[in-house]
Amino acid sequence: MIKVDKQDQKDLLKYFHKKDYDTNEILKDPIFAYIMPATKKFLLNLSFEENGRIKEDVLFSDQVKNSLIIETFFTNLIAQYGANARDIFITTSEDVVCDFSSLNVDEQVKCIKKFLIKKYSRMYKNMRNIYGKKLIQSSELFICPYCSRSYIGVIESEKNSKSITPDLDHFYPKSRYPFLAVTLSNLVPACLFCNQRAKSSVDFYKSSIYPPQKIFDEIEFDFDVYMNKIYIKNYGQLISRPEYKTHLETFLIQEVYASHTEVLKSIINKAQKYRKSKIEDIAKYTMGLSASEIKKIVFFEYEFMSKKRELLYKLKQDLYKLIVLEQTE
Ligand SMILES: [Zn+2]
Repeated sequence: MIKVDKQDQKDLLKYFHKKDYDTNEILKDPIFAYIMPATKKFLLNLSFEENGRIKEDVLFSDQVKNSLIIETFFTNLIAQYGANARDIFITTSEDVVCDFSSLNVDEQVKCIKKFLIKKYSRMYKNMRNIYGKKLIQSSELFICPYCSRSYIGVIESEKNSKSITPDLDHFYPKSRYPFLAVTLSNLVPACLFCNQRAKSSVDFYKSSIYPPQKIFDEIEFDFDVYMNKIYIKNYGQLISRPEYKTHLETFLIQEVYASHTEVLKSIINKAQKYRKSKIEDIAKYTMGLSASEIKKIVFFEYEFMSKKRELLYKLKQDLYKLIVLEQTE
């Protein structure tokens, strides 16, 4: 989704290999003076770090490989801290108060999570400030991939350095998998509604579609003209698959799209105004243009839509097909 060239990759890696982001250095802070030796050793040998710094292949991992990063980490964690360690790690939140000098293994897991959230949140925050705009622009996304109904372009002021950028969503939430907080393939530019209101920290791990906009290739919209209602024709079939279910329910896709009756009304109005007979009438007065060419001109806003830039693209495409292209009169 986010694509950076070789030079930017080099810069980013150099940036994250600074002393500030080195686990060895961070652990020298007096607040870790009483850390248990085994926990210290664990933190210095994290599977996604090398010599205390994020590994290059973790920072630039393919999305499909992120599950391997997650599973390797948890395998090591469970080997040292027991079967409950995964659950404890996942459910421990940023604001937990923990005691590094405690002998209790569960407490140690909480401390590890706290340490990683702190370290990787700071890395993400600084990366967002310095490289955020560039990273978002590199995705070449203009519309939110989760809902396909909001623009997410970067807007820059001509007068000053002010700019408006969309959210960057952590596909696998950083509250659960903090070590993927800066992995580029885990960052998805998204609209505020989808990222902060709808998705928040819903766990997409093992039950999601990537890239998220792929769902719109599968959805088939339909409508009921008497009820003035839009619905997803194959909803039952999609919801039976866990990854589609997660997407449909998290972002309320059916409900959100049902609310766009203005699209339905506008296509119906135009189709009624330009029935087949009317188009044929116009064709009689335009030398050289066939009825089907005239239809294309009349309905140009649906004929020449850009999938990448048109809001509600799939809805418009499906309704246009049903109402205009398949109409007999
Ligand atoms: Zn959205």
